[in-house]
Parts: sequence; structure tokens; C-alpha cells
Amino acid sequence: MGLKIAAIQSGTEPVGKLPSGSFPKTLEMQLGCPKCDVSYNLIVDWDQAADRWFEESSQPLLRLLKKAIFMGHSTDHRVTHFETEGVVVTSFAKAAPASGG
Ligand SMILES: [Zn+2]
Repeated sequence: MGLKIAAIQSGTEPVGKLPSGSFPKTLEMQLGCPKCDVSYNLIVDWDQAADRWFEESSQPLLRLLKKAIFMGHSTDHRVTHFETEGVVVTSFAKAAPASGG
């Protein structure tokens, strides 16, 4: 399984499935929006976070998530759950309300 990292806006629940085969670990480090004080918790599979190369191999993924969070600022950080394996960032959007408002 390739390294997968999820970013969940603090104070919100994950919208999609967490990237964990066994046990999810929340990293001490958070990613914050450079334009406001919204921050995202980072969730990784426990075993992957314990990997000796994790710090290095997670860098490109963190860069992608950081960019996605920054882009999300323009839409009020409506996406509270991002996930990436290093190529694309998946956005988990909350289900739209049944009737428009
Ligand atoms: Zn922001």
C-alpha cells in the first residue's frame, strides 16, 4: 500500500474513509491556511507513520495538501477532508442538502 495522507479540518469529522489499514494516527504537525486561522489535522496509517522514511516520503504529499488547503480558502474551506497518495488530491465534500438553501 502506498503512502496516503488525509487532512481533516480541525473541529470537523472525516467525510470519507480514512487512509488506514489498521489504525489511524493523527500527526502532531498540522497544516494551516496561510490566509486565515483554519488548520487541518493530518491522518496517516499508524504503520506508515512509523516507517523510518516517513518524514522524507511524506514531504511531496504534504506539499500537495498544503496547496489544496490554500486553494480551499477561496471557497471558505468548504472542503473539510482532503486525501492524497502523491499525484492528485481527492476532496471529500459533504453531501449536498436535499433542498437548496
Ligand atoms: Zn483560509
